[in-house]
Amino acid sequence: MLVLGIETTCDETAAAVIERAPDGSGRILSNIVHSQIGDHAPYGGVVPEIAARAHIDLLDGLIDRAMREAGVGYADLAGVAAAAGPGLIGGVIVGLTTAKAIAMVHDTPLIAVNHLEAHALTPRLTEPLVFPYCLFLVSGGHTQIVAVLGVGEYVRLGTTVDDAMGEAFDKVAKMLGLPYPGGPQVERAAAQGNATRFEFPRPMVGRPEPNFSLSGLKTAVRNEASRLLPLEEQDVADLCASFQAAVLASTADRLKVGLRIFEERFGPPQALVAAGGVASNQAIRGALETIARKAGTVLLLPPPALCTDNGAMIAWAGAERLALGISDGMDAAPRARWLLDADAKAPAGHKNSRA
Ligand code: ATP
Ligand code: MG
Ligand code: FE
Repeated sequence: MLVLGIETTCDETAAAVIERAPDGSGRILSNIVHSQIGDHAPYGGVVPEIAARAHIDLLDGLIDRAMREAGVGYADLAGVAAAAGPGLIGGVIVGLTTAKAIAMVHDTPLIAVNHLEAHALTPRLTEPLVFPYCLFLVSGGHTQIVAVLGVGEYVRLGTTVDDAMGEAFDKVAKMLGLPYPGGPQVERAAAQGNATRFEFPRPMVGRPEPNFSLSGLKTAVRNEASRLLPLEEQDVADLCASFQAAVLASTADRLKVGLRIFEERFGPPQALVAAGGVASNQAIRGALETIARKAGTVLLLPPPALCTDNGAMIAWAGAERLALGISDGMDAAPRARWLLDADAKAPAGHKNSRA
């Protein structure tokens, strides 16, 4: 089946067409992402009003391009999927309303996708991965360990009690004078730095619940930075390297606990899977490899372009739901908040393919 996917929950405007074969394998026919980073950079973060307006300006053209690049017509679509949340509500309304219009005009099913569910199911688009698996979702807005038991069946095992990890990277970058978005900048600077120069706290290490905390670490970096003022380039590199080392140590410990709890509750996971923008960090990717091996499982990482927000993941999640007979009505509501494990449930009795 062919599905068009639309993503507008944050600062990427994206449209894609994917194909899901009856055996459950996936193929990307087109995947067009426009990052609005340039529009928001002068403000040091995403401005919701600017994002929503940019989505309106860009989305029609991107959908048109995605359809043309895929070489398919609207009549060929089995459905149109849009991220209906969680995210910045103005953007979500733009994407969902556009999807509704297409669904209505072309008389094709609408699938209102949870953006987090799309991140969770993305690895199945590129790999023959079966349930259950353990997801480390690590982005600008989320830092969660999730047991993915089936389409629509998610159990959140751990989460951040304060900042998301991507948010912490962005804030550290900002306080060190690095441009927005800070994650990649911190990673780049860290590669030139001495990770042992500063001994930053390793948040939550040793705690029995697999939760995260990043705001204390962020404050420790701020304090150290203000002590050193004015900052030399090497100071910035060393601060970034020491910060990243603390993040890696905390992540390793938290995932070890999360994977142990996963196994106790659901049996051994088929894989450890990572998604979200921070999962494109090479140091983190390397650390996850070790974490998975020590826990006796394999690491599965979608390519970086599928880790950050994109339309293919929305289309794929839509296809996975559609394959189970799930679609949504025209009353599907845009949602600023939408927990993955609260009501993303598939109706009882649905069997998960490939499981
Ligand atoms: P969400 O998906 O939770 O709604 P989001 O759309 O902001 O949030 P993504 O687009 O998946 O999330 O990821 C963006 C975040 O990832 C930013 O905080 C960014 O700094 C961070 N990030 C991107 N690349 C890297 C990197 N190489 N190292 C660390 N962080 C990174
Ligand atoms: Mg983003
Ligand atoms: Fe995302």
